[in-house]
Amino acid sequence: MKKEWDVIIIGAGPAGLTAGIYSSRARMETLVLDKMGPGGQLALTENIENYPGFKDGVGSFELIQSMSEQAKRFGTVFSVDEVVGISVQGNLKKVITKKGEFSAWALVVAAGASPQRLGVPGEEKLTGKGVSYCATCDAMFFKDKNVVVVGGGDTAIEEAMFLTKFCKKITVIHRRDRLRATKILQERIFAQKDKVDFCWKSAVKEIIGDAKVQAVRVQNVDTGEVKDIACDGVFVFVGYTPNSSFLKGVLKMDESGFVASDDDMKSSVEGIFACGDIRRKSLKQVVTACGEGATAAFCAQRYVEELKGTAYS
Ligand code: NAP
Repeated sequence: MKKEWDVIIIGAGPAGLTAGIYSSRARMETLVLDKMGPGGQLALTENIENYPGFKDGVGSFELIQSMSEQAKRFGTVFSVDEVVGISVQGNLKKVITKKGEFSAWALVVAAGASPQRLGVPGEEKLTGKGVSYCATCDAMFFKDKNVVVVGGGDTAIEEAMFLTKFCKKITVIHRRDRLRATKILQERIFAQKDKVDFCWKSAVKEIIGDAKVQAVRVQNVDTGEVKDIACDGVFVFVGYTPNSSFLKGVLKMDESGFVASDDDMKSSVEGIFACGDIRRKSLKQVVTACGEGATAAFCAQRYVEELKGTAYS
């Protein structure tokens, strides 16, 4: 594979794929690197119903396939490879991966975020043995079983709704007395009275089981009362941590590791743009990731053309 590119995009979720479409359509030689292949967090969900243009929603897999085919049609090259570090050498940016080294005039960082762990005893040991971070991937293993869902945001409630198609009973454990999720999702989950219970104001203290999950131990945050909820599975949806460890010391980020970038997606380093869920921002949606990917690619193109002296005046 070629080593020198105009633009290298790190991450092939909706932000990176859209950046690929815009960058290669602007005739930038564009490489997209992703350790898993196209999809990002979109690959963890089944259906998207708030992406404009699809009145009945659109399958996540279908959307990913379409976006990556569209990028390939304009010439974007994809490689399944993990980026472990980047460095800046004059105007060139060096990308160090598990398979080698590449360089580009501009980088678009769209590496996204990964599900956050609860960090309680039993969680790590029982991951894959009843503890899951993806209902779309694992729901079928819990057909007619009892599961708990931890979290009260959009992801938790959407995934709990998905689990109702498979599981006998779902208990949503949330640390407050009201959900964070969008109102329409709340209406849907509260309508599932036969299948969905709520355990409010409760923190998970431990996941119990040897070879597989048997129960979760929860503590009421007001009274301190501790109880065990018997279950076969624990689905954890308590937010996301940015995949930014390979950028430490290079780009400015906040205390949680979200990368700072401005309205043009410019990071703290000239020629490096950050877009999508790795970015510090308020609204994390497929549609915002796509918009930011387009902006990042457009600004990267202008930056590269200025360096090469081919920019329009
Ligand atoms: P989120 O909005 O950050 O919600 C995380 C949930 O987990 C919150 O209810 C939070 O409780 C709880 N939580 C956090 N840390 C916890 C801990 N240590 N123990 C127990 N509970 C904990 O995350 P998300 O639901 O994954 O959503 C991420 C972003 O994607 C959001 O911007 C969301 O709107 C977006 N999203 C959108 C859609 C959609 O539009 N269809 C679907 C999925 C996600 P508190 O409420 O008390 O803080």
